Amino acid sequence: MTISSPGRVETDLGRTRRARRIGRALTEAHPDAHCELDHSSALELAVATILSAQCTDKKVNEVTPKLFTRYPTAADYAGADRAELEELIRPTGFYRNKTDSLIKLGQALIERHDGRVPGRLADLVTLPGIGRKTANVILGNAFDVPGITVDTHFQRLVQRWGLTIQTDPVKIEHEIGAIFPKREWTMLSHRIIFHGRRVCHARKPACGACTLARLCPSYGLGPTEPAAAAKLLKGPRARELAVAAGVDPELVPAQAVVAEAP
Ligand code: SF4
Repeated sequence: MTISSPGRVETDLGRTRRARRIGRALTEAHPDAHCELDHSSALELAVATILSAQCTDKKVNEVTPKLFTRYPTAADYAGADRAELEELIRPTGFYRNKTDSLIKLGQALIERHDGRVPGRLADLVTLPGIGRKTANVILGNAFDVPGITVDTHFQRLVQRWGLTIQTDPVKIEHEIGAIFPKREWTMLSHRIIFHGRRVCHARKPACGACTLARLCPSYGLGPTEPAAAAKLLKGPRARELAVAAGVDPELVPAQAVVAEAP
């Protein structure tokens, strides 16, 4: 037995079944879920994930086309002119630290991996600037190795759903990984992060316009009135999300549709 929310007791089997229903509902709600960092290789994804720390994916995607053209290989980062690299990535914030990480990443790849990004978690996490979360993003999206990405959205949502009471990302990764089939891990992560960015926001979740309302013990954390909740939906599919939740899409303001999902 686990306590999924105050006053709510649920068997482990019940929790697993509810989690799987949540997984299916997310698949229907977010058919467009994908890695939102633009990339065409494992190296580009590694660089983009380093730049995404404390920065929106949208901003990273504005910077990377020029960066990837100027630095196509690990050797280019290893031998980069620091001032030039700093200038290119400055809009992503913390650009001095990030420049450090990119140069050191290039050097480590040249010294230890023939200039290639390795496809194993154990190797990835030893690289400068690459933590476990980033390593799982790279594995799942560049190597097709299933990985669970416990970022701030993932952590918040699985806790709100009462699927875990853990706060340590590695423990969360293992607990959620035990509930869902391995082959689903990467897409599940994308869908949860999509839901966190578009519906279940940190401050004001759109409970009244959420397709998971009946499965979520935290329903009511945000506004439950459809008109108030619809205003909180974000992203190009905000109106479709409203319809899926049984809410009049006309209640979704135009700016919500073009709003950047943080
Ligand atoms: S019902 Fe509310 S708290 Fe639960 S997932 Fe939906 S938006 Fe988040």
